[in-house]
Amino acid sequence: MSALIRQLKYLLIPAALMGAVAITTAMQPAAGPLERVLSRGELVVATRAAPTTYYVDQYGETGLDFELAAGFARELGVDLRIVEAGTLDELFQLIHSGKADLAAAGLSITPQRSRSFDFSTSYQTVDEKVIYRLGAPRPRGVEDLSGKRIVVLAGSSHAERLALLAEEVPDMDIVALEGASAERLLTLVDEGHFDYTLVDSNAYAIHRALFPELMSGFDIGQARLGWAFRRDAEGSLRHSAQRYLTRAKADGTVARLEERFYSHQEHFNLYAARSFIRHLDDRLPQYTQAFMDAADATGYDWRLLAALGYQESMWDPDAVSPTGVRGLMMLTLRTASEMGVTDRTDPYESIHAGAAYLRKIHDRIPERIAEPDRTWFALAAYNAGFGHMEDARVLTQRMGGDPDSWADVEKYMPLLRQARYYEQARHGYASGGGQAVIYVRAIKGYYDTLVWAGTSERHTRTMLAMVD
Ligand code: GLU
Repeated sequence: MSALIRQLKYLLIPAALMGAVAITTAMQPAAGPLERVLSRGELVVATRAAPTTYYVDQYGETGLDFELAAGFARELGVDLRIVEAGTLDELFQLIHSGKADLAAAGLSITPQRSRSFDFSTSYQTVDEKVIYRLGAPRPRGVEDLSGKRIVVLAGSSHAERLALLAEEVPDMDIVALEGASAERLLTLVDEGHFDYTLVDSNAYAIHRALFPELMSGFDIGQARLGWAFRRDAEGSLRHSAQRYLTRAKADGTVARLEERFYSHQEHFNLYAARSFIRHLDDRLPQYTQAFMDAADATGYDWRLLAALGYQESMWDPDAVSPTGVRGLMMLTLRTASEMGVTDRTDPYESIHAGAAYLRKIHDRIPERIAEPDRTWFALAAYNAGFGHMEDARVLTQRMGGDPDSWADVEKYMPLLRQARYYEQARHGYASGGGQAVIYVRAIKGYYDTLVWAGTSERHTRTMLAMVD
């Protein structure tokens, strides 16, 4: 039932009667957790906001745990409601008290937690990384933790692991911070307040771009991530979640989500990350307002346009390519004249025209293609041309993939370079097929980094300065 219909229904029931309904339900023998979710028409999931789990971008709520939970709610035919906890303690309290049906927050299945809570089968495996700052000696094993100041998230699997090590390595100086994000922990090491921190490999992968100087010393362990439930003898909800997650792993859903949330960060090498961070401070502020205005005019998130601008020219208004494209958004002469640009090197004009041109392409892409995929198709077309993007979709369909899914089209688009594929394609050889895929990935990476930089402590000042 949709949230709207449910609200209308409640509006039609007089308040007094609603009280009576509540009392009757309370007096009935307690239903199992699955029945409660079904009769409520809503699955309540507790989480902690993080780029690895749950966050809000241009298209609304997203994140790997969120998308998985949304799939589970869909399967149950109920709505999904997220409740956010600040600390891990609060998170477990939410399921213990029954305020949430389950916790999906990149939680490691640990021996200590398993004593009080039930876990689903695991949906992801991560390495637990010991992170240090370049320039300091690299820690290579637990013995190197001796005498070091180590910061971890309070109540985390990492805190649990260090506590177990305390006998073996007695002189570690461990500080456990309540509610710290992976980003906060990494910042503390980056700024030299601590020698090391422990974070999961998925969090490290996502944050690498923001911390080019932080390195992984060694893996202190491996963890399986699962959803946590209140201990319940009946376990009906956990069993359905179990079946759902097992299937999501088997049919590639989890792999696709991992790909979607993590893979585009891989292009960030140390060099690229360093220049991106530098340019966030020394170039972006001059163009933030222009990106925001262009975003207002075209309905995009300004950070997506900024990500596009960075991929095009690294925010350099004087950029020129050997093929004659030019300016901050690297417009061709044809596009520039189509969009009424008089001076391609004028960053304001360039940004506005680039955004409007992207919007124009975007609007030509079938509306049935869901966001964010429709945006990725628009970007691929912006880069490789509409015809080649269409050819890639046709080819994807011929190869048995879903032409409306960017994850599928991304696999086949590079094939348009090979004669046996492009000869059958309407627009022929696409040298840029593979390049468009890398292009879209890079923009996703910059976009995510900008979204996260906006909430990060390191860049809050810069971002505020941009808005001023
Ligand atoms: N996987 C770790 C844990 O379960 C980290 C969680 C987090 O960073 O929120 O404790």
